[in-house]
Amino acid sequence: HPPDPYRGRFAPSPTGPLHLGSLIAALASWLEARSAGGQWLLRMEDIDPPREQPGAARDILRSLQAHGLYWDEDVLWQSRRGEAYDAALDRLHASGALFACRCSRRQQGPGGSCGSTCRGRSVAATGQPFALRVKVPPDYSCRWRDPWQGEQYWPLGQQLTDFIVRRRDGLYAYQLAVVVDDAAQQVSHVVRGSDLLDSTPRQQLLQHLLGYPTPAYAHLPVITDSRGHKFSKQSHAAPLQDTAATLNLRRALAFLQQAQAPAAVDTVADLLDHALAHWSPAAVPHAAAMTARD
Ligand code: GLU
Repeated sequence: HPPDPYRGRFAPSPTGPLHLGSLIAALASWLEARSAGGQWLLRMEDIDPPREQPGAARDILRSLQAHGLYWDEDVLWQSRRGEAYDAALDRLHASGALFACRCSRRQQGPGGSCGSTCRGRSVAATGQPFALRVKVPPDYSCRWRDPWQGEQYWPLGQQLTDFIVRRRDGLYAYQLAVVVDDAAQQVSHVVRGSDLLDSTPRQQLLQHLLGYPTPAYAHLPVITDSRGHKFSKQSHAAPLQDTAATLNLRRALAFLQQAQAPAAVDTVADLLDHALAHWSPAAVPHAAAMTARD
């Protein structure tokens, strides 16, 4: 059972401004949290400076506000959480769950796995840079009922390889930071895009190893463009115009196949009130495509 009370979150990476795909994730997690009478938290996942775009974090926060999506509590900035991540790495290391992997990107195996026999060696530091990987127990599996993606069963040891929690360049891996912070923010429900579906088993393994509770997980269909490609910052999805907030919200609600508000509902606040009053998680499609012009 997920922890009580309901605490949801939106956790954007500041690699670019908010686009329709990220608005859909923000809106759905907000609707789920508010309809449960819960809190909705915001976490800025700014732990990968090379991928960041200057000003994107500020733009995302401003866009969320322009779209009426106000968060509870202070924004959690991952760039300020190094001590918490180090403490988690120390605990994982002390329990023998980690190993040092010296493979360069070129030496890595399929799916970014360790391409060598690093697992057999200890973490003892030498001059050479190394990544820290989690030893995935061969018999580990996890399952959950995903409201939109259905019954999930991941025999982790067979499908997923030992994954990185601290990169060779010293940066913390997303998998580690997200788990430490979902626990720190006492997140009870994670609502996000299904592009992160295969991250969830890794995160549940880390929660298990660190003794954290496991939230409930729900993965939205990922918005694709007319050619079936993920509609994302990387594929240069158009940034949202904050001045067109009601139109953007209507497009996001249409993608989630929610009841359309009458044309007379023409302010952001009224549109969100209508969406909340009519929120139907069961209507959300399992998979969906939308063109940039929809
Ligand atoms: N920061 C991640 C992203 O923007 C999402 C993290 C999450 O929701 O767990 O893709």
